[in-house]
Amino acid sequence: MKKNYDVAVFQGDGIGPEIMAPTLEILRQLSRGSPSYELAFTDAPAGAGHYTKTGESFPAGSLETARNADAILLSAMGLPDVRYPDGTEISPQIDLRKKLGLFAGVRPVKVSSGQITPLALPPGKEIDFVLIRESTEGLFFTQGAGEVTEHEARETLLITREVSEKLFRFAFELAKNRKASGRGQGRVTCVDKANVFRAFAFFRSIFDMEAARHPDLKADHAYVDATALWMVQKPWEFDVLVTENMFGDILSDLGAGLMGGLGLAPSADIGLNHAVFQPCHGSAPDIAGQGIANPFAMILSAAMMLEWLGFTHDHPDLSSDGERLREAVEKVTANGQNLTRDLGGTAGTKGAAASVLEAMRA
Ligand code: ATP
Repeated sequence: MKKNYDVAVFQGDGIGPEIMAPTLEILRQLSRGSPSYELAFTDAPAGAGHYTKTGESFPAGSLETARNADAILLSAMGLPDVRYPDGTEISPQIDLRKKLGLFAGVRPVKVSSGQITPLALPPGKEIDFVLIRESTEGLFFTQGAGEVTEHEARETLLITREVSEKLFRFAFELAKNRKASGRGQGRVTCVDKANVFRAFAFFRSIFDMEAARHPDLKADHAYVDATALWMVQKPWEFDVLVTENMFGDILSDLGAGLMGGLGLAPSADIGLNHAVFQPCHGSAPDIAGQGIANPFAMILSAAMMLEWLGFTHDHPDLSSDGERLREAVEKVTANGQNLTRDLGGTAGTKGAAASVLEAMRA
């Protein structure tokens, strides 16, 4: 008897539906082939295109679909020329983070040997770390509500004990699991600016309290500026990094750069009861409709979803299929055949996705 999992699907804007279609096809094939789980997909309309058609960017029904699902798969959303009357962009993914309390933005940065990277990695070195970005407060707290007068502008950074405790608990838990699966040293680094801002000294003190509960794991601190330097100079030394929202926003793009670009960068936004999986990149309207978008970040996000479902439901088949899917993308990327243009190849979206399926069967 197969166990059912409901997945809410936000097809998104621009290249969103183009990269979602082959990803769902891969997930359907895995689900059909599995003796123990069945994935069911429900579309949740939202985004800039939906706003243009209906005047609504995030219908209540779509939020309900997301709330009731076991996991949420989201492609890129928003279009630069479709905006609310106040000039801000349409980004239901940010509403989702707040409404579902998705405090942990998980951004894995992985470069296996053979994979394209702008760095010259020393022989035998691979990059494999996870950046956790707090996603509901920090400098994004007053997003859309900053005060602007003729002479000055103010935004407020908020760090709360409640969210920071959940965030650090999550970070140490992740480091423990990575260590157990042989992927990490069991080390968590708190990235902050505690030498300058009281708010970050507060952030760090909460980190230290959580660290004290994990004598089996290593815990240390790094300033955000030094972290940016080390991400370029010695990124293979990191394991789990945890940081504030805006710092994480910036460092995660640096991480994507290490992986050869946004087309390979997956992400997850995780809370206590819900999780959204989506590529780090935007809707890339400049290449939409041409069939050339790189589907790998979307597929890797789907792989993270399977691993997370497997972990939270104690369902090893799901976790191992997630791992297989991630490894298949890594194989195709390292092999250098069937890559899309952003990675220097000539393949289209469908061809690149098909090669992942082939690699998984091999
Ligand atoms: P957002 O602010 O919504 O995150 P952005 O302004 O960062 O978006 P993206 O939409 O991510 O911009 O696109 C940045 C550049 O990267 C564009 O030139 C786009 O074509 C390219 N790009 C993004 N995603 C992909 C992809 N999956 N495949 C190929 N190129 C991509």
